[in-house]
Amino acid sequence: MKDPIIVLIREDLRIHDHPALYAACQEGNVIPLYILDEESNLGEAKKWWLHRNIEAYQHSLQSINGRLWLDKGNVEKVLYKWVKNTNAKAVYWNRTYDPDIYQRDRSMAEALSSQGIQVKTFEGTLLLPPWKIKKDDGTPYKVYSAYYRTLRKEEIPKPLPAIKRMEVPQLQDDGMVLNDLDLLPTIPWYHIMESIWDPGEEAAFKRMNSFLTKRLNDYSEGRDFPGKGLYSTLSPYLALGIISVRRIYHNLLDTENKPIEPFIKQLIWREFSYSVLLHYPESPTRPLNEKFAEFHWESDEEGWEKWTKGKTGYPIVDAGMRELWATGFMHNRVRMIVASFLTKHLLIPWQRGAEWFLDTLIDADLANNSMGWQWVAGSGFDAAPYFRIFNPTLQSEKFDEEGTYIRRWVPELSQLPNRYIHKPSDAPEDVLKKANLTLGADYPYPVVDHKAARKRALAHYEEIK
Ligand SMILES: Cc1cc2nc3c(=O)[nH]c(=O)nc-3n(C[C@H](O)[C@H](O)[C@H](O)COP(=O)(O)OP(=O)(O)OC[C@H]3O[C@@H](n4cnc5c(N)ncnc54)[C@H](O)[C@@H]3O)c2cc1C
Repeated sequence: MKDPIIVLIREDLRIHDHPALYAACQEGNVIPLYILDEESNLGEAKKWWLHRNIEAYQHSLQSINGRLWLDKGNVEKVLYKWVKNTNAKAVYWNRTYDPDIYQRDRSMAEALSSQGIQVKTFEGTLLLPPWKIKKDDGTPYKVYSAYYRTLRKEEIPKPLPAIKRMEVPQLQDDGMVLNDLDLLPTIPWYHIMESIWDPGEEAAFKRMNSFLTKRLNDYSEGRDFPGKGLYSTLSPYLALGIISVRRIYHNLLDTENKPIEPFIKQLIWREFSYSVLLHYPESPTRPLNEKFAEFHWESDEEGWEKWTKGKTGYPIVDAGMRELWATGFMHNRVRMIVASFLTKHLLIPWQRGAEWFLDTLIDADLANNSMGWQWVAGSGFDAAPYFRIFNPTLQSEKFDEEGTYIRRWVPELSQLPNRYIHKPSDAPEDVLKKANLTLGADYPYPVVDHKAARKRALAHYEEIK
């Protein structure tokens, strides 16, 4: 038997366009190995999603004569054990860009190479490696539009075909079984997520194709409206690499007579986020705009409780937070509204909100999440100016005019007429009665008054301006 090649599987649970697996399969026996990093702080919702997708990936590898070995622990130590026990001659992986993992991988590659083990790394996460797009002076971009224009001129490599067949060795060590990874919670709170999210590549392709044929035409006009469902919902699949972004990009380019640019722009926001994360690895916790390091936050535990539970008394905020809790997902416009509410109306640090998102989103992605929170909080590159404070009621009237989204996630308000659904506290007694709603009992009064909160936030901003 030829010495095998270990392919470390991480957030790339797919057999199409998998550069590391593809290269290894060209060369002989392959051991696809998933090591659950016990030091990572994977969120609870994403753990559930990971469990389901590892399961789907196992089936998918079996269908091409392969299999997936599982293990857990300190990745470096566990990998050395596998290299030694299997006599592997090489280790291949697609790079990931979480700053801690990226650094660890680099030192792991050096250590393996020094022991005569060949290491090859590949781009499997992004359209292009995140160091590729730079300004003429060699520094990274801080402005999205310029980044977008430069990237758009680049030739993006075509995705690799799906692997049809692979050879795997017979090993003494069977590794762990999926349940040993302990990814599922003991209390099964995930039943709504089960009914919405189908794991695996086939499901991801189905979602992409349905989006490209049925919703792409209206994406630009409709993407901001959470009740219209005109967005792709591909982020959970991208977050675990179940579908390759190069595959999506090239499918878009091959689409005829459809407005592809608005969607490409969003994919390039993702690239930009990764570029920022690579060059500013502290950005998940430290404001990119230094002056925000001095910002005076409040500690509002009651506000925090109400925000996380979707009980702020602002229906659009509550709808978003409840959608998140139930489905592990939230619409982009609503993410901006709830993040703005937390950081500006409640003056709770964006880092705390970002952590909550990482724990509850199935599409939790360090680069996109840090970018999103810093953007809303006003401290990111190319961010919304701090003084532009969203009025949640006006946002709601504009983007959920008929209250479709609110009625879905805040059912106690469902009988209110459109006029009052965005601000139930303005409704006269008879309207509330007719809608079977008692404020303060069935639905809370607003946790803060918008005008007063806005004034307070601007006063805090004045201190650091
Ligand atoms: C506060 C905040 C936190 C966020 N946290 C995350 C996160 O943890 N994970 C995550 O994937 N996205 C995050 N986003 C970005 C965005 O909200 C989601 O990518 C998007 O809502 C996913 O839905 P979709 O796949 O239907 O998007 P679509 O509108 O269909 O867009 C297609 C793809 O483009 C990318 N994309 C779209 N919008 C953005 C954006 N603003 N920034 C970066 N990439 C984007 C995503 O990969 C997305 O799947 C966050 C945004 C905000 C404001």
